[in-house]
Amino acid sequence: MLSIVIPIYNEEGLIDDLLERTVSALEAFISDYEIIIVDDGSEDRSLQNLLNWQNKNQKIKVLSLSKNFGHQAAFTAGLEHASGEIVGMMDGDLQDPPELFQEMYRKITEENYDIISGTRSGRKGYSSRNFYTFLFHLFFRNTASIRNMENTGNFSLMKREAVDALLKMREKVRYLPGLRSFIGFRQGYVEFIRDERSEGEPKMSLTKLFILASDAIFAFSRFPIRFCLSLGLIGTFVFMCAGVYVLIAKAVGFAVIGWSSTLLSIYFLGSIQLVSLGVVGEYVYRIYKESQNRPIYFVKKFYDGKPVKQ
Ligand code: UDP
Ligand code: MG
Repeated sequence: MLSIVIPIYNEEGLIDDLLERTVSALEAFISDYEIIIVDDGSEDRSLQNLLNWQNKNQKIKVLSLSKNFGHQAAFTAGLEHASGEIVGMMDGDLQDPPELFQEMYRKITEENYDIISGTRSGRKGYSSRNFYTFLFHLFFRNTASIRNMENTGNFSLMKREAVDALLKMREKVRYLPGLRSFIGFRQGYVEFIRDERSEGEPKMSLTKLFILASDAIFAFSRFPIRFCLSLGLIGTFVFMCAGVYVLIAKAVGFAVIGWSSTLLSIYFLGSIQLVSLGVVGEYVYRIYKESQNRPIYFVKKFYDGKPVKQ
């Protein structure tokens, strides 16, 4: 069986389109499938709409979370409730084309890959959001300790062994594309052009997007802490040279009273210290999150394919 996991948060306007397209894309090549739609605490009519769909088609299962946990947690919840031998992840706003699952499925079954991710060879539309995403991928590619993840997001298909490995990692601050790349296995790619959202505003605000990007960077690269260390080392070197200069100046009786140099060095040192403290704070926050050991999500109800009364 093939399971496809899709998270939804306040998407009442595009659920019909999404499910029509996904169902027909899957039925074009497979009859044994399930679509696990995770309702990530939507406040609009998304859940009712999903339940209507589920009454019509029992292969659609609806996992309703107790509140909005964020889309990485929602994906995790869906993956944990998927029972397929092959499991896919796809955003619910049709930016990733469900028709591509056929090619991904063929590659996994015929070419013996364990994981196939969609890699974006381009994006439709120009927006500041796309530009930030581009910057993030550029930075991440050059600093992260994992490889082969250029321009991949959640859109992917995985064999059961890979899904189980992915779910063994219980960290609370999660960046699934990074974790998926980290687990190894035989990974392949299919290219696609990332579409624009088919309807409505993005449900990941810029703040949420920024937090996701920093989660990815803190989880998969040593850059932030190294950066602080290098600043500290450079600072030490500069001030050692300045110290030597001051001592020589004093010895030859040429000491200048200057407040600008004093002020500048205080500002400079002060800002380095603040930045470094902030970075250390980020790590402490992450350690704290892990040590709390709270569950990643709570399920309100799993409508697992039997007709429901509303
Ligand atoms: N989403 C979610 N929970 C959230 C935010 C978003 O489940 O807190 C879903 C959203 O409905 C969509 C997918 O995650 O199906 C991707 O969200 P969005 O399109 O806003 O993100 P972007 O395309 O900017 O990464
Ligand atoms: Mg989107």
